[in-house]
Amino acid sequence: MRKIGIMGGTFNPVHVGHLMLAQWAMEENRLDEIWFVPTGCSYMKTERNMVPPEDRFQMVSLAVANNDRMRCLDIETKREGYSYSCDTIEQLRAENPEDEFYFIFGADCLFAIETWHCPEKIFANCRIIAAGRGGSSERKMREKIAELEEKYGADIILMPFPSLAISSTLIRDRVREGKNVRYLVPEVVADYIEGKGFYENEG
Ligand code: ATP
Ligand code: MG
Repeated sequence: MRKIGIMGGTFNPVHVGHLMLAQWAMEENRLDEIWFVPTGCSYMKTERNMVPPEDRFQMVSLAVANNDRMRCLDIETKREGYSYSCDTIEQLRAENPEDEFYFIFGADCLFAIETWHCPEKIFANCRIIAAGRGGSSERKMREKIAELEEKYGADIILMPFPSLAISSTLIRDRVREGKNVRYLVPEVVADYIEGKGFYENEG
């Protein structure tokens, strides 16, 4: 049995906050591997400047290429239409019945998960690792966790995490403003963004 952490997100683009969260969660919870799952056409994000799924997949793949305990899956990016985390986790469970899955996410997702499609299916199929994220209060997170555990029988681990006020939105804004994103994203990702000319305009 392997313990596998799932990192879902749009990764538009992947940044050091995502990578650090993955590494932190792996060590703190003794996970064997981290699987990144970039969304296809996300039904929750209609933001401008959403780069194609294949490119977001490619950027994450490049970012984790030098880490043999991390990989990027294309199950959502190659699927047509909307992708739901609950279906993805159910599929991964079915394909890997021996393994134990942990869904890793930041505080914003903890407070949003009930608005997602079939949250009860997510809770039934995996444990959750929730990390603090810029400005989230630990007390509010604990309250939310207690509420979700009560309501859905969820199994949620609150993971202390050094707050990093970095987001993909920040990266996109900086590129648009002509500023450098070195050290905010892996070098290979910065090169990829520059090569493709992503995020340079309003979009
Ligand atoms: P955007 O600004 O476009 O929403 P994002 O930085 O929030 O991008 P997502 O792809 O939306 O990135 O998030 C993927 C996952 O990573 C989510 O679970 C989110 O909570 C988490 N995450 C992203 N950045 C951080 C951070 N700095 N600290 C903790 N968690 C983070
Ligand atoms: Mg986000």
